[in-house]
Amino acid sequence: MKIYRFVHAGKPSVGVADGDRIIRHSGSDAMTLGDATSDSVPLADAELLAPVTPSKIVAVGRNYAEHARELGNEAPSEPIIFLKPPSAVLDPAGTIVRPPQSQRVDFEGELAIVIGKTARNISRDDWRSVVLGFTCANDVTARDLQKKDVQFTRGKSFDTFLPLGPCIETDLDPAALSLRTRVNGETKQNGNTHDMVFGCGTIIEFITAVMTLHPGDVILTGTPSGVGPLNAGDRVEVEIEGIGVLSNQVS
Ligand code: MG
Repeated sequence: MKIYRFVHAGKPSVGVADGDRIIRHSGSDAMTLGDATSDSVPLADAELLAPVTPSKIVAVGRNYAEHARELGNEAPSEPIIFLKPPSAVLDPAGTIVRPPQSQRVDFEGELAIVIGKTARNISRDDWRSVVLGFTCANDVTARDLQKKDVQFTRGKSFDTFLPLGPCIETDLDPAALSLRTRVNGETKQNGNTHDMVFGCGTIIEFITAVMTLHPGDVILTGTPSGVGPLNAGDRVEVEIEGIGVLSNQVS
């Protein structure tokens, strides 16, 4: 099923897609969905919110060999992880704001894992038991600041640097999904999750050996090759097979 968080007629809600409508549920978020109500709204009329409000976002760097190479790096021998702050999360219809400190802001289309249960020391074979589902993400990056600082924090953490959505798909095998990023309609990234260096099981085992993941936390699984700049007025779209399209304006 596809879970949406949305506002309609001023009322924030969570719901499940049924064709071109969202059936409102009684719960307060994707993890506590509650029961279906008799109320539904047209998907086109709903103001979509980021499908979760994570306590943290753990991102995997250089998880596609071709992308590692395009930035002059080798594919890593174990996952490289970094954090993005929850304050970077942007709603599906939100505008990515290029900060004055950066002359080079890049898109990175990525498959995002949404954690459904508290997770610590999860073995790679059990990874699916702690996952609620998957959504689309754009790991927006101030590339010049990332290179200058060496540390990833500043370049990855500006407000609006993490568009998430449009929904969480709970019934999805992430092993081989096409992932495309378009800027103003032109395809810039045309990848597939089967090219990930480390799969979801390895990533979750690696991260939960370090830190506890909480329901609603998000893991970004890395970006395929083809990353490039965003300019004022651009529209950037991340489309993942089986989930949908995440589309954001840039200012
Ligand atoms: Mg990334």
